[in-house]
Amino acid sequence: MTPLLSVAEARHRLLGAFTPVDAERIPLTHAVGRVLAEPVVSELDLPLFANSSMDGFAVRSADVASANPDIPVELRVIGDIPAGQVSQDKVGPGEAVRIMTGAPLPRGADAVVPVESTDQYRDEMITEAGCPSHVRIYRSVGSGDYVRPKGQDVSQGEVVLPSKNRLRPQDVGFLAMLGVSQVPVYRRPRVGLLSTGDELLPVEEPLEPGKIHDANAYTLSALVERDGGEAIKLGIAPDREEAVREILDRSVASGADLILSSAGVSVGAFDFVRMVVEQRGELNFWRVNMRPGKPLTFGTYQSIPIVGLPGNPVSAFVGYEVFVRPALIKLSGLPDQPRPSIKVKLLEPVNSDGRESYLRAFVKSEDGHWFARLTGHQGSGNLRSLVQANALLIIPAGVKSLPAEAEIDAWPLGNWMEIEG
Ligand code: AMP
Ligand code: MG
Repeated sequence: MTPLLSVAEARHRLLGAFTPVDAERIPLTHAVGRVLAEPVVSELDLPLFANSSMDGFAVRSADVASANPDIPVELRVIGDIPAGQVSQDKVGPGEAVRIMTGAPLPRGADAVVPVESTDQYRDEMITEAGCPSHVRIYRSVGSGDYVRPKGQDVSQGEVVLPSKNRLRPQDVGFLAMLGVSQVPVYRRPRVGLLSTGDELLPVEEPLEPGKIHDANAYTLSALVERDGGEAIKLGIAPDREEAVREILDRSVASGADLILSSAGVSVGAFDFVRMVVEQRGELNFWRVNMRPGKPLTFGTYQSIPIVGLPGNPVSAFVGYEVFVRPALIKLSGLPDQPRPSIKVKLLEPVNSDGRESYLRAFVKSEDGHWFARLTGHQGSGNLRSLVQANALLIIPAGVKSLPAEAEIDAWPLGNWMEIEG
């Protein structure tokens, strides 16, 4: 029988088959969550112009050098600058201009005195008070105080966002500030998704004797969308060679960058997925030294990479997290990064069979440490134990038992702090 591949070797082989998808230009409003395909070079300075960081009075700092609450300096107010307007005024000796936060500093002034340090401070909004003819200044300011200089944050010509990173809400706002309305991003990888099995019915159809609802199509399409891919749902293929071929052909025709199937990869009499890949494509591997998920299959079908996940819903989920997610990350144009893990202490002894095991667990923090207990029955068909889990514990290959208190790595699962155990 084919030897079992280690998880690391299998992942290495699988990732070798993927290269990033093409780039496209999309409107900024759709860019959050997408992966930048080119670095962004700023065409602007930010701030665009020297402006006030406070509501107050633009002054010549030398004029107010002696100001204090007992002996204020009185200045003549020659103008008023709301945000959004450029003043033609030039501040001369003994003069000030009232200025609002974000308004461009007028010529002649080199600092701003916040309104709180003047006789114009009221508890209500300063704008409602009207512009005074004179202002008494109660404190000195240094040259440049309360002024945000042009280019303080960003200089024109600088690379401000590197390529190959997923845009977050703050990145999108930043791009808007820079005037970037069309963003070069990798297109979303397309994943052709299919379930196989005579027993499967879509959730909308009533159950019949011997049948079950298809869970994997729903879990997997949600995972694909979570990871930035586009799930193309191709439906359920019955356990017939011809039907499996037909649905794989449709996957290829759908323009998938990756075909993702579940079930039909084991050694059962009706497991046709691996057989069809073997006959009509190229099988790379089909047995991995992991639990759950040993019969995981990888190859190409008409040159499109295909991952055949095991049918059991927990095995399909774990197989996705271990193999498909990194593949999608690579397809998306992101650099390969190890998945963040945490160290957890076991609250109970744990057994394994020596394969690299991914166990469903609930992890919680106490006194600065993470503690883990297993959830429910760990049978790979039992989806509820996965629903109750907020992490996967990773038992290394070769380890058959671990005592309580042992420290091991765990992968937190999405929104994990929101799950109650
Ligand atoms: P198989 O890989 O075809 O031997 O299937 C293994 C187990 O997973 C069987 O109990 C199947 O009924 C179950 N199974 C296969 N596909 C799905 C699916 N899409 N949703 C839920 N269970 C499934
Ligand atoms: Mg089956």
